[in-house]
Amino acid sequence: MLDVNRTPVTLPRTLLETVTVPPRRWSVVLRPRDAVCLPRDWGDRYLTCPGCRNRAPTRGHPLTLGCPRCGGVYAVGWDEFDLTAHAALPPALPPPGQTPRQRPVLR
Ligand SMILES: [Zn+2]
Repeated sequence: MLDVNRTPVTLPRTLLETVTVPPRRWSVVLRPRDAVCLPRDWGDRYLTCPGCRNRAPTRGHPLTLGCPRCGGVYAVGWDEFDLTAHAALPPALPPPGQTPRQRPVLR
């Protein structure tokens, strides 16, 4: 069980990775569904600085990025995101304006 913002959260151990050294690259993070402090225009993901934990929006797909807060320049861990994020993504939603076809209900 994890403590996430003082709320106990139960996760399968297989979804956790324990590391012994702090990250050295920007972490790509999926926007939590209940996020309230992240600007909406940041989209569905953001970056976390390995030097100071500052959050930053993703603009395009940069290989490196400078942190506006601590000034550090770090690589972006896109490969880590690709390996882990897809398992956590909800099923793909249809494009806006389209609704999935439903079978008629026979009564
Ligand atoms: Zn920083």
